[in-house]
Amino acid sequence: MTKIEQLEILKQEVLSCQKCKLHQTRTKVVFGEGNPDGGVLLIGEGPGADEDKTGRPFVGRSGQLLDKILDAAGFNRKDHVFIANIVKCRPPNNREPEKEEREACLPYLHKQIEIINPKIIVLLGATALKLIDPSMKLREAKGQWMIWKNKIVLTTYHPSALLRNPNLKKEAWEHFKKLFYKYREIINPEIKSEHIK
Ligand code: SF4
Repeated sequence: MTKIEQLEILKQEVLSCQKCKLHQTRTKVVFGEGNPDGGVLLIGEGPGADEDKTGRPFVGRSGQLLDKILDAAGFNRKDHVFIANIVKCRPPNNREPEKEEREACLPYLHKQIEIINPKIIVLLGATALKLIDPSMKLREAKGQWMIWKNKIVLTTYHPSALLRNPNLKKEAWEHFKKLFYKYREIINPEIKSEHIK
């Protein structure tokens, strides 16, 4: 079975999930999307209002900014990355997902990681960082390459943090440059970016 077929089977299970209370307030489950063979898995926190309406990850203002940064660094969803979240249903009023909600939903993300088997994982923000170490602070992890379950992991800001504080964009760009160099080194030496030499 291909990765796409395996992900489709998992998606059908997740679409009807009621394992935590977020199912009561969601409009659509946001499973994730992108190229499972691209080599990079981006992990965010959870769906917002636009994502809840459309069932697609990172399509609101944060998502548009993420796409812009990815594009500047030579990446896109169709070819290089798969995007998923810690929780698949929107927490009301965009609050942080609670521990019980994260724990209920995490088996789906672990299964996605197992199927996709990415070479590089990028954690977007503090909630995503909890996946690998609940005690680690974003300020300690950001921009650092770490190893988790034999995967190379890079942590950066969630794009919503960049919208709230544009001063962080410069630092985030340095993180995406690191991603570009690592991708070129271990996945595809042919990747090109107009903005990175
Ligand atoms: S957030 Fe995850 S565990 Fe909770 S209902 Fe949605 S899919 Fe199920």
